[in-house]
Amino acid sequence: MMKIGFNEATAMRKSDLATDLLLTEKYGYDYIEIRLDMLKDYLKSHTIEELAGFFSKSKVKPYALNSIENINFCSEKEHSDVLELMEWACSIAQKINNPYIIIVPTIDEKVKKYSIKETEEDSIKMLNELADIGERYGVKLAFEPIGSHHCAVKSIAQCWDIVKKVDRDSVGIAVDAFNLYLYKALQDVDDLEMVDSEKLFVFHIDDSEKLPIEKLDHCNRLWPGDGVIPLDRLILALKQKGFDSIASVELFRPEYWELAPEEAIKTGKEKTASALNKFYNSTTTE
Ligand code: ZN
Repeated sequence: MMKIGFNEATAMRKSDLATDLLLTEKYGYDYIEIRLDMLKDYLKSHTIEELAGFFSKSKVKPYALNSIENINFCSEKEHSDVLELMEWACSIAQKINNPYIIIVPTIDEKVKKYSIKETEEDSIKMLNELADIGERYGVKLAFEPIGSHHCAVKSIAQCWDIVKKVDRDSVGIAVDAFNLYLYKALQDVDDLEMVDSEKLFVFHIDDSEKLPIEKLDHCNRLWPGDGVIPLDRLILALKQKGFDSIASVELFRPEYWELAPEEAIKTGKEKTASALNKFYNSTTTE
C-alpha cells in the first residue's frame, strides 16, 4: 500500500508550515511535501533546528520540496535565480533529511517557439546543472510533466526521453494525476511502462472536474475520487512498476483554500486513503 503524503499547496491560503506539521501528524499522514514559499515564511519565526527537531520526533517525514519552477529557456537573471534557489532549498533539505525536490518545466506561451529537440536539449542542460547542486546535498530531482498546451514538457513520454538522456541516479520523474490528465485525458498512461521503475520518485494524487480538457486549470482540481480522472488505471500502472512509495494529495482549489486548515488536512487524508483502499480492495488478492 502506498504511503500517504500531504502537499502544502492543498491548504496554503489559510495554513502555514507550523500548522501543517501539527495537523499532518494529528491525522496520521506519513509524509509532508513542504512548499518553498511556506518554508521561507516559517523561517521568519522559527529555526531549521526546530524543523529538524520536529521530524526527528514525529512519524511524519519530509518527502519532496515544492518546487523549482520555470527552468526552461531562462534569461541570464532567471537562470542564476533558479540555481540560487536550488542551492538554498537543497541546503535545507539536507538538514531535515528531505530526499527529493520537484522540478517543474516552464509554463509560458514562449515555450511554443521552441522545437521538441530544443526543449529536450535545454531541459537536459538545466537538469544537469540542478543535479550538480542536488547531489552535493544528497537531494534527488523529480521532474514533473504538466500537460497544459503552454508547458515546455507535457507528457510522460517527453519527460522520460529527457530524464533517460540525463542518465543520473539523482534525476527521475514526478507523476501528477491532474497534470497528466491535462495531456490527452491520460490516454497515454501506458507510456509509464517504458519508464525505469527506479526513476519514479513522486506521485501527486488529485482529481478533476468534468470539463473539456482545454478549459481545465489547476483550480479545477478535486479531492481524489471525487472527479473524472481514471485514478485506478494510473495507480495500477504505478503499482505494476513496483512503485508504492507515496501518494501525496496536491490541490490548488480556491474553494478548498477557504476551508479551515484542519478540515482540509483531515479531508485530504480521508479522500486519499479511500481512493487507495478502493483500488487495493478491487485489485489485490495478494
Ligand atoms: Zn504536482
